[in-house]
Amino acid sequence: MRYEAVIGLEVHAQLLTKSKMFCGCSTKFGEPPNSQTCPICIGMPGVLPVMNKKAIEFTIKTGLALNCSIASYSRFARKNYFYPDLPKGYQISQYELPIATEGYIEIVVNGKIRGIGITRVHLEEDAGKNIHEIGASHVDLNRAGVPLMEIVSKPDIRSPEEASEYVIKLRSILRYLDVCDGNMEQGSLRCDANVSIRPVGAEEFGIKTEIKNMNSFKHVRQALEYEIKRQKDILEEKGKIIQQTRLWEPEQGITMSMRTKEEAHDYRYFPEPDLVPVVIDMAWIDEIREGLPELPHIKRERFVKDYGLPEYDSDLLTSTKEMADYFEECLRHYRQPKVISNWIMGELMRLLNLDNKEIMECPIRPQQLVDMLRLIDEDVISGKIAKTVFEDMYRTGKAAMAIVKDKGLLQVSDQDELLKIIDGIIEENSNQVTEYKAGKEKLFGFFVGQVMKATHGKANPAMVNELLKKRLG
Ligand code: ADP
Ligand code: MG
Ligand code: ZN
Repeated sequence: MRYEAVIGLEVHAQLLTKSKMFCGCSTKFGEPPNSQTCPICIGMPGVLPVMNKKAIEFTIKTGLALNCSIASYSRFARKNYFYPDLPKGYQISQYELPIATEGYIEIVVNGKIRGIGITRVHLEEDAGKNIHEIGASHVDLNRAGVPLMEIVSKPDIRSPEEASEYVIKLRSILRYLDVCDGNMEQGSLRCDANVSIRPVGAEEFGIKTEIKNMNSFKHVRQALEYEIKRQKDILEEKGKIIQQTRLWEPEQGITMSMRTKEEAHDYRYFPEPDLVPVVIDMAWIDEIREGLPELPHIKRERFVKDYGLPEYDSDLLTSTKEMADYFEECLRHYRQPKVISNWIMGELMRLLNLDNKEIMECPIRPQQLVDMLRLIDEDVISGKIAKTVFEDMYRTGKAAMAIVKDKGLLQVSDQDELLKIIDGIIEENSNQVTEYKAGKEKLFGFFVGQVMKATHGKANPAMVNELLKKRLG
């Protein structure tokens, strides 16, 4: 029997508001435990929450970017459960009336565009964090009450690869919108994956399991691959899949049962009585729509159309807004899109990846990159030496010309100087000269190599060719 996977993702994104969802506490990450708390977010009795308007604006913005309808009337709901990191005994979330519904995003997998439906985007508050050590457990409530947006996809995803592509695309959109920093390691973007399998061609969905605790794209893919295989093995042995929540264990590369359906919470949702309903008028939605930035897929199309770049380059260069801005800033000073693209996608990305850095942290400014490209065009340095210079610029932050001067890397384009070197080489290699003249033409490369060696790679290659041809007849 051949099976296909059915996957739906629930992504939680912490919003980049300055203050929390229902109180004025700061949302800054990494502060001393419990230093950013107040009676509201630690769940004291008798306090009243007040909505953060910016968080609602960010959710509308996201809803619009994900092609959703925005509800003119929505409301918050109480989701009741007890856990030490949730001192109120309930989380304020949304239930039957979320802010945004029925949208989609497009992902590209194996060159094919696929639309993935979005069921809903709703707003809630984050819980605190439990920290366990041997002999003691601690609760840090700095995160309690931070605005959290939940984006639920339809079960439209069909492979682990599509799932990770979906998260990458969603993250990119959230970062373009400036509503979430997308940092999966710090937990500002978290993802739960629901997965079932069914025989190829079947209409009906199978029983799903939900996987939690994946904090990178790679984990999403690996956990799903593991889980699909596990479900297949069960069905092939005529077993039954149990609906359950499972945890991804990255060290062992497996998922483990966390709780089954019988142990599932009954959240006893009801409308949050301490908050008024959310009424959103058309004028506000229009205003937010007007302010939307150019989204990644639109930018990608523009890069192809306006700059004549290949799809591949455009996709990579528009993967973050910062990268696209960097590229366009270079272009303002130097009108050769493909040359710039090659340097960014090649050397620049290579160095950034080595250091695990983002383009915003790149020590080479666009103007400096362009200055170096000009040195190549003006024959001051060769393309090969440029790579060394570039790495130096990256390490030291110095300008290209300064490095070229300091290290004596100027390209040798002086005809007399080159001729002197060439004549010396011809004299020392009379055997090869005789062979070359007798018709062994591939020895030409040998002479070029000798000149390059003598000049430490700095000889102007075009001139070397020309002069060697002359001298060797
Ligand atoms: P639950 O009530 O268990 O939370 P939901 O209907 O809210 O389930 O769906 C949660 C997520 O699971 C959504 O992303 C949805 O697309 C996905 N999903 C629902 N049914 C299935 C299924 N049979 N297989 C895989 N994913 C599913
Ligand atoms: Mg659900
Ligand atoms: Zn507070």
